[in-house]
Amino acid sequence: MEETIFDKILAGTIPSAKVYEDEDVLAFRDVNPQAPTHVLVIPKKRAVNFTELKDRDEEEVGRFFQKAARVADKLGLDEEGYRVVINSGRHGQQTVAYLHAHILGGRQMNWPPG
Ligand code: AMP
Repeated sequence: MEETIFDKILAGTIPSAKVYEDEDVLAFRDVNPQAPTHVLVIPKKRAVNFTELKDRDEEEVGRFFQKAARVADKLGLDEEGYRVVINSGRHGQQTVAYLHAHILGGRQMNWPPG
C-alpha cells in the first residue's frame, strides 16, 4: 500500500504541529487551515477511508471517535460548537488516502457544505 503523507507524519519522518497523541490516535494541525482551529485526527492503525471502518473492531472504531471528541474538547471548542468532517473517496474530495477526521472550529460554519 502506498505511503501517504500521514504515514510519514506518524513515522516522524516529516514534522507536524502535534496537539494530542496516545496509543490509538495522533492529532495535529492542518497545514492549510479552513477555520481558526483546524485539527486532523488520525487512527494509528491505518484505514484508507471511512468505509474501511465497516470491518473494523467496534472498540477500535469507538475509541477513534471518543478520542476525536476529547481532542475537540481539549481545543476548547465545545461551548461555541464546531464541525467534524470525514471526506471519503473522490466525490467526498478526500485527498489523502489515510482516514482522518477534520475538527473545524472558531467561526460560524455554513450548510450545506460545498
Ligand atoms: P482531505 O481533503 O479530507 O483528504 O484532507 C487532507 C488534509 O490534509 C487537507 O486539509 C490538507 O491541508 C492536509 N494536509 C496535507 N498535508 C499536510 C501536512 N503535511 N500536515 C498537516 N496537514 C496536511
